[in-house]
Amino acid sequence: MAFDHVTMEISGFCNALCKWCKTGRRNRTRTPEKSFLSYDEAKKGISFLTEHGIINRHSLFDLFSWGEPFLNPQINDIIGLLCENEMRIGLSTNASKYVAIPPEYLPQIEYLIISISGFSQETYGRIHGLNFDTIIKNIGKYAEYFRNHGRSAKVIMNYHVYQYNIHEIKAASRFCTEQQIIFSPHIAYLADEELFLPYLTHTMERSLLEEASEEILFGMIRNLEDTLPDEIVCPQWDNLVLDEKLNVLPCCLFTSAKNMGSIFYFETPEEIRRLLKENEYCKKCMRSKQAQIVTSPMEFPYGYTNEAVIIPKVYLGGVDGTFSEEKTMQCSPIQNGDMFRLRLSIGLDNRIIRFDPLENKRCIIESIRFYAGGEDLPIISTNGTAKEGMYWFDNPDPQLVINVDRHDGCSDEIIIEGKCIWY
Ligand code: SF4
Repeated sequence: MAFDHVTMEISGFCNALCKWCKTGRRNRTRTPEKSFLSYDEAKKGISFLTEHGIINRHSLFDLFSWGEPFLNPQINDIIGLLCENEMRIGLSTNASKYVAIPPEYLPQIEYLIISISGFSQETYGRIHGLNFDTIIKNIGKYAEYFRNHGRSAKVIMNYHVYQYNIHEIKAASRFCTEQQIIFSPHIAYLADEELFLPYLTHTMERSLLEEASEEILFGMIRNLEDTLPDEIVCPQWDNLVLDEKLNVLPCCLFTSAKNMGSIFYFETPEEIRRLLKENEYCKKCMRSKQAQIVTSPMEFPYGYTNEAVIIPKVYLGGVDGTFSEEKTMQCSPIQNGDMFRLRLSIGLDNRIIRFDPLENKRCIIESIRFYAGGEDLPIISTNGTAKEGMYWFDNPDPQLVINVDRHDGCSDEIIIEGKCIWY
């Protein structure tokens, strides 16, 4: 079976100094070597993967793992190449460099994650070691660019929560609301299996443990560990991971040093899957619960929820009319009780969509209207009660299903307007 998800490192180099990250930590003691995936190599690789049925027509390509993709001078050429091949693209950056992605490529960008480890030079500088003012300026530029193209909700600030930056969460959240991008705080952990596994198995070197204990929220990680099962089907087995030289890696935990040979040695996806499952390290990874932790959402649960703002989701219906978490789009944030207007490019292949304004809250939706190219799109079902032009939801998972089978045949953009009041 082909891989739906590919992680393709396009930069084997990062300019940040993140203290508990495999790459950043190494950067603190030696000058990193610049090594990038070139457009020509990427082209050869994608043709090979397609010809051998190793990827699907619409596979999701994350163009990052341990490096900073926006430092690759050919990033836009590689994005363009993936767009030509109708692939979906995931990006992540430390925002130290602003690169405008050509607008025609934006519909295929699933997300742009921006990682940040504090909201002042003092806290951010402690981990990332870059200039905070530059980063904030660049995040503002990305936010504005995506907003101007109706794609604000694709930009996600991933705020790494440490002991020393909890007090700045509110300021970061407010900034994201102003910029109309998504704020997503996560518990920071030891992003290096050579540190994290010893920590989890109580074999970490004492001085390192003491140092990390002053920064990482280990109590929260241990609490999380208690809630996770002893065994899982690791989602990483379904992810094809390639380094910047197109070598296959066992999973996203590893860098080139642990590569399993060039992708060009493999003839079928099954050969690769077999090799991934034979990875001996997986047994201790699972036993220590490292696999369970790093593949869990690790959302930071306290103190940031802005009750006045929600981020609706749109599910793109499959040909059989079903919906899955795999095919969702996040909308721009909306305010409680305010009229909202959302523009979304949903592609031309979809016939139905599902609009989920929020989760775990009850709500009333007023004056709701879905349209495209001036044509109203009918609401065909709901799990709420329709009453005098309003939809009333006395359940915590409100949904409206809309027929988006348009007759104009030329635009993939739909507009959603209305008012949502939640309680
Ligand atoms: S079990 Fe651990 S090492 Fe194996 S694929 Fe999953 S995360 Fe990677």
